[in-house]
Amino acid sequence: MTTNAIHHFINGQRSEGTSGSTQDVFNPATGQVTGRVALASAADVDTAVQAAQAAFPAWADTPPIRRARVMFKFLELLNANKDALAEAITKEHGKVFTDAQGEVARGIDIVEFACGIPQLLKGDYTEQVSTGIDNWTVRQPLGVVAGITPFNFPAMVPMWMFPIAIAAGNTFILKPSPLDPSASLMIADLLTQAGLPAGVFNVVQGDKDSVEALIDHPHVKALSFVGSTPIANSIYERGAKHGKRVQALGGAKNHMVVMPDAHLDKAVDALIGAAYGSAGERCMAISVAVLVGDVADKVVPMLTERAKALKVKDGMQLDAEMGPIVTRQAHQRITGYIEKGVAEGAQLIVDGRGFDSTQAGESCADGFWMGGTLFDHVTPEMTIYKEEIFGPVLVCVRVPDVATAIQLINDHEFGNGVSCFTESGSVAREFGRRIQVGMVGINVPIPVPMAWHGFGGWKRSLFGDTHAYGEEGVRFYTKQKSIMQRWSDSIDAGAEFVMPTAK
Ligand code: NAD
Repeated sequence: MTTNAIHHFINGQRSEGTSGSTQDVFNPATGQVTGRVALASAADVDTAVQAAQAAFPAWADTPPIRRARVMFKFLELLNANKDALAEAITKEHGKVFTDAQGEVARGIDIVEFACGIPQLLKGDYTEQVSTGIDNWTVRQPLGVVAGITPFNFPAMVPMWMFPIAIAAGNTFILKPSPLDPSASLMIADLLTQAGLPAGVFNVVQGDKDSVEALIDHPHVKALSFVGSTPIANSIYERGAKHGKRVQALGGAKNHMVVMPDAHLDKAVDALIGAAYGSAGERCMAISVAVLVGDVADKVVPMLTERAKALKVKDGMQLDAEMGPIVTRQAHQRITGYIEKGVAEGAQLIVDGRGFDSTQAGESCADGFWMGGTLFDHVTPEMTIYKEEIFGPVLVCVRVPDVATAIQLINDHEFGNGVSCFTESGSVAREFGRRIQVGMVGINVPIPVPMAWHGFGGWKRSLFGDTHAYGEEGVRFYTKQKSIMQRWSDSIDAGAEFVMPTAK
């Protein structure tokens, strides 16, 4: 099998870089190496930042409507190439093709939002704040900004960032995950075809070293990071020490509460899809089912039957419901959590460890496969409850009432997403008001906000002040300037020594 060389994209061109180091890229379904991705050195990062810095003045001066036209063209090209992008994602990430199509579609939503940048950047104006004086505010771009993205959404998460950053007049450096880097280059090619000037969008491939070089680079004004909590935390602190604007979205442990009055068939459908879709490798995956009152005795048998019947297959098969795990190391980590759950006394109802890879499809024998796992009688002290597993493992916690469910969730260190299934308006309202989580679904298992509402968790799921995309995204990538103006015919003669007030 031939392996693909995956390079950087700097100043409008592919670049091998100078580091000489590379990392293997796998197809998780087959376990075969399909590519080698370059890993940038600090010098490669500097080349990219210099290109972005050089492109900034002209791009920032380009009228917003013309920047928006490039976005419209990019949108058209994305729509024409969305299946090719989805296929590339499936082959490096492993998620099923239909899910990869959904990922691309949610990214496209943000590009559509960014096409409205002239309206989003429109400032406020007050005539006559004092006699003869007007005051207005504008939002201006920051300069070179960087986005560091995780493996689990190689197209959508970059699209949370660069469409808004670029449309707002910044130049951008994307540092994707080295596990599934090909989507980043396909995006770069489409942006070029859309007429984006060289240097406005750049990709540096790499890992820890390239991220640190970006954080420490004096020309990089802001960083958006999405990934695991320990790294998000350290990037936030290191960036803040340099006086940079940082938005660092971290890990999660998302609960779904099932109330006794919920429509149980629909709640079980929701749990199965949200726990095992994308093999649980979503920051909005449901990993804890909180079963209230006597609901557990009905729901656990239903979940058991469904978890055993999951169609775990090579993602290019159109009836596949769940694909492989992204890497062998992640497979080992998840297996370790399952062992720990058993050792700490949780009841293992469905064990995904014994999955026979040959069932997944032709040439899957050496892939990173496992089935869905289900635990019952999990308690808040157990490791499988406390930590993010990031795999197809659903744990059930039994609680007596909704107040205990809310307390349980509020005590967890993460606060990314949460869901409550109920037919009661007052339970839903109370839940929405009291829960300490950034994104809440009522009878919606994965409440990822739409492009214009903004995405972000609370507690240790987000470090920084603003959420990703939506109007918060526009604020993150721009700084406000207030301009106050008068003309000489309204200026009285003589110096004023008192604090100016409205006259
Ligand atoms: P990760 O933290 O391992 O990697 C994220 C990015 O950081 C990658 O680009 C990676 O190359 C880089 N990186 C890795 N080690 C680094 C280091 N020591 N210093 C600096 N950078 C480093 O995360 P992942 O495994 O790619 O993605 C899964 C994680 O991302 C999960 O924790 C998941 O919950 C989280 N996630 C969160 C959100 C959200 O919106 N909150 C969305 C998607 C994923």
